[in-house]
Amino acid sequence: MDYSKYTYEQLLKKVVELDMLNRELLREREQETRLDYSWAGNLGHWYWNIKSNSVVFNPLKVTVLGYSMEELPREVNYQYFTERLHPDDYQGTMDAMLLHMHGKKTVYEAEYRIQAKDGSWKWFYDRGKITQRDEKGAPLFATGIVFDITRNKERELNLERRSKDLERDARTDPLTGIGNRRAIIGELEDRLVEASINRTPISVIMLDIDHFKVLNDTKGHLFGDSVLKEIATIIRNNLRGLDTVGRYGGEEFLVVLPNTAEDNAASVAERIRRKVEDFDFGEGSRVTISAGVGESPGGEDIETLIDLADKRLYEAKRTGRNVVIASRNGEP
Ligand code: GH3
Ligand code: MG
Ligand code: MG
Repeated sequence: MDYSKYTYEQLLKKVVELDMLNRELLREREQETRLDYSWAGNLGHWYWNIKSNSVVFNPLKVTVLGYSMEELPREVNYQYFTERLHPDDYQGTMDAMLLHMHGKKTVYEAEYRIQAKDGSWKWFYDRGKITQRDEKGAPLFATGIVFDITRNKERELNLERRSKDLERDARTDPLTGIGNRRAIIGELEDRLVEASINRTPISVIMLDIDHFKVLNDTKGHLFGDSVLKEIATIIRNNLRGLDTVGRYGGEEFLVVLPNTAEDNAASVAERIRRKVEDFDFGEGSRVTISAGVGESPGGEDIETLIDLADKRLYEAKRTGRNVVIASRNGEP
């Protein structure tokens, strides 16, 4: 069509005509989609004229966001939506579009949040394609579909949160809040692998409360529980950054000290032993602990190392309790 001979008024009339036709086609397209796919109530279409930067779409995306079509500016451009993107989703969405525009991806595909009129965030799954390019390959026109996936996404995120919580619970001792046996063994396994790769020393401390049964029997189980909690806190407060403690058994704690030789681990154990000895557990109660320290010079497996610390703990009990045994002299 040669529009060059049209007067200004004729051109304006033509634009209005085309605009109306365009809206009509869009409405028809939407109706067709709804008829063909009854589940498509949450499906939107968009058409982006990249050259003039105007976006045409059916109402889904704006009604989901709480706007009415009448509220929109007459001309909506690409930035109208991207300005409302969640900051965390902005870069990923832009990258997805650019990768497709430069031909690095065959389609544009993104999941993102857009802020609704009431301030809440709605999730969308967006998928589109450049449908027209100029002779040099520069994109002229793109079209795509967009789903409102807010409900699915919220369900998915809830499940993710729940599974993270469960995973944390499965590794936490509910009484003391420190890692349980599974957690501390897992930690030791990982650190032993690291130690053997880096050829660095690694030590463990096995701690056990002295005469805890008597304490339970005389002061009650609840008091025993509070002692366990206090001792877990004392141990935790006396460890450095990489060292980790876990509740290994009823009244036994295992400390893993990566990159630490036996004599240093023994100093840590001795410090904890003294802190416990000096601590007032209430009702005039004094509690003591015994500890066995073991080092893996590299390559030793987990059982051998725990066994070594266990033997030394047993030795500490045998020699009268409230003591730390580390060196090989202490071996039975
Ligand atoms: P030893 O000095 O030789 O270690 O003697 P002990 O009495 O500390 O050792 P024993 O193994 O005979 O008893 C451990 C006690 O720890 C028995 C058990 O009831 C108590 N215990 C284990 N888990 C808990 C717990 O979660 N809470 C309380 N209050 N007591 C616990
Ligand atoms: Mg004990
Ligand atoms: Mg014990």
